[in-house]
Amino acid sequence: MIIHLKNNILLEKAKEIANSLKAKIITENNKIILITPSSLKQITNELKQNIDDYFVMENDIQLASRNYKKETRKVKINNLEIGGNSNNTLMITGPCSIESRDQIKQCANLLKELNLTTLRAGCYKPRTSPYSFQGLGLDGLKMLSDIKKEYGFNIISEVKDTSHVKDVIKHTDIIQIGAKAMYDHSVLRETGKQKKPVLLKRGFGSTLQEFVQAAEFILSEGNPNVILCERGIRTFETKTRFTLDLCGVAFLKEYTNLPIILDTSHAMGYSYGVPDLTRACVAMGIDGLLIESHPDPKEAKSDASQQLNFDEFKEMHKSLIPICNSVNKNLI
Ligand code: PEP
Ligand code: MN
Repeated sequence: MIIHLKNNILLEKAKEIANSLKAKIITENNKIILITPSSLKQITNELKQNIDDYFVMENDIQLASRNYKKETRKVKINNLEIGGNSNNTLMITGPCSIESRDQIKQCANLLKELNLTTLRAGCYKPRTSPYSFQGLGLDGLKMLSDIKKEYGFNIISEVKDTSHVKDVIKHTDIIQIGAKAMYDHSVLRETGKQKKPVLLKRGFGSTLQEFVQAAEFILSEGNPNVILCERGIRTFETKTRFTLDLCGVAFLKEYTNLPIILDTSHAMGYSYGVPDLTRACVAMGIDGLLIESHPDPKEAKSDASQQLNFDEFKEMHKSLIPICNSVNKNLI
């Protein structure tokens, strides 16, 4: 159950009520909100005197549920917004990993040429092998900050574990929680304690319920700026890297109030399929895309087979605009 307390209830009293209900407590627009386990279905007459409104929830998808907030949440990324009434589809692109100043500058110039706003690049890479390139770490984040200063882009980069959460928060505008970190509760809690937007990727072995509950960890710490990212799940199929769960996207659009971004690069795993898959995603009317691009994909230090070269990216980008417009969205 989600409970909105009356405005005259002081924090001390709110904490007392929260304790008695085993509830989490957040504030939104100066309103104190309690979130109890969803098994609580009824409130006492005594409690009724202290509350403005309450929402009985079916399961532990609560703050993210459309039964709580009907409209898709608006997430502001500095001067941009997605969700809410914005009708924006945000194109996020850049390399899998930042590799050098020269490489990221070439990527930045691609964004500039296409009037794009949001640059991605990983600095802490969650690799499958400890012997593969692990990312440039803090040096990479500093290079991204320099690019931001020079070009004014919003920057997104991923968190792999808690050892560098604070650095990623400091140097980025959107914090990406990678698929493998989706279950890391310390990361979820830490990113929930601040207000920067968090893009939460779905673990490739996670159900939709588990995915949205991971988002609830962030929301229930008090950060309302959560974006979901479908990036493919593991199925019996091995010809493609993962299977992009578009049925899952339809579910998330219907039952959750969080903006949804689709990552076709990691789902497909091979650049040849990324443009077609991306066009199909855009036709669903989504809030954004995350596409890996690289000046010379075959030389990339991670995810070489799936990154688009700049010509491929430009051609795909051009083809997306009319599809976006046909579903009343603006590609930004
Ligand atoms: C990435 O975005 O480069 C990445 C590693 O993604 P995922 O966490 O979805 O595998
Ligand atoms: Mn990658």
